[in-house]
Amino acid sequence: MMKTEEKIKAVKNRDASYRDKFFVAVRTTKIVCTPDCPAKPLEKNIVFYDTLEEALQAGYRPCKICMKEFHNNKRNNMETIKITRYQSPVGDMLIGSYGDKLCICDWAVEKRRSTIDRRIQRHLSAKYEEGTSDVIEQAIGELEEYFAGHRKIFDIPVVFTGSEFQCTVWKELMKIPYGTTISYGELARRIHNPKAVRAVASANATNPISIFVPCHRVIGSNHKLTGYGGGLDAKKGLLGLECSNTEGIELW
Ligand SMILES: [Zn+2]
Repeated sequence: MMKTEEKIKAVKNRDASYRDKFFVAVRTTKIVCTPDCPAKPLEKNIVFYDTLEEALQAGYRPCKICMKEFHNNKRNNMETIKITRYQSPVGDMLIGSYGDKLCICDWAVEKRRSTIDRRIQRHLSAKYEEGTSDVIEQAIGELEEYFAGHRKIFDIPVVFTGSEFQCTVWKELMKIPYGTTISYGELARRIHNPKAVRAVASANATNPISIFVPCHRVIGSNHKLTGYGGGLDAKKGLLGLECSNTEGIELW
């Protein structure tokens, strides 16, 4: 493991030999840089990550100055977000991938559609483009098995496009087992932020990777279904499907 002092020194000297060895995230701007970036951030605002992936997961966006290669990388589809329409039993959905990861699985028609789309594209510095990819095909295959009642756990790599808080909530959602539900209050407790019930509910509502990140498994403390991006019928449909494939679990 590289020592923090060594990393700080490399950043101070803009040492290009440290490229790809670690990444420098700046808390105040939410931008992630290579150690040799000409934009020099204040030391107190820096967080180090071993991989770019981890920084992106934590809500940082790649710097446009030092990560030109990242933005220009045309060979492996990294500059576009592939988007495919998928007709699910609970409504028309958009499935999207960025590189080899799933970044969107969401209802084609919903109130926050354009806000969520803008956020995803800005976060990944990439534009939507109709088309498919290996990970989209894999995602659709797993959804088919899920809707047929044959799949209870997904294993698709995902990339989160949100703030640190949103990513924390979304990661926690992935731990809620198939066929079970929890309340927003319980979700807030699980991320050690018991008072943030409303913020948790709002992060839940802006989850761009529905079903795979099961925000439908969170319901009101009064056991009411409460809101859902895909509409209450979709939420009811998903919970009903999971419930009928799970023995002895009562939903409400
Ligand atoms: Zn930079």
